[in-house]
Amino acid sequence: MEERLTISKIKEGTVIDHINSGKALLVLKILGIDKNSKETVSMAMNVESKKMGKKDIVKVEGKFINEDQLNRIALIAPSATINIIKNYEIKRKFKVKIPKKVEGILKCPNKNCITNTEREPVKTSFSIYKVDNEIFAKCLYCGKKLSELEDHLE
Ligand SMILES: [Zn+2]
Repeated sequence: MEERLTISKIKEGTVIDHINSGKALLVLKILGIDKNSKETVSMAMNVESKKMGKKDIVKVEGKFINEDQLNRIALIAPSATINIIKNYEIKRKFKVKIPKKVEGILKCPNKNCITNTEREPVKTSFSIYKVDNEIFAKCLYCGKKLSELEDHLE
């Protein structure tokens, strides 16, 4: 009940729930939503959650975000759940899945990597893998391995 009060209903759009608390802004960054976006976005931070203690919620009105893009959220909030809302009802609900590969979202910290050349930079590409519940990325160009992925968002 409490959770329903926190997220007021929207007519159409995408609600991202069960985001680790404090990560809502990073979720928006991953989705490429900023002050120039036309969508109405609302956020709730530090919402009480039975499952997680505290969580964040992000609500994007009037936009259905594609699943590949939504799965990128798993890089920083692996337990996030997605609710697709149509006509005030949840039409689909799913948990984000860690993508096998991401392009153009993480930055390679290796200065000599081809993705960091000033003249003709190549779009970054990383394979994603999990070890003991921690998520890592590996640059497909130079092999550099990253942990703490939120520190490496482009
Ligand atoms: Zn690299």
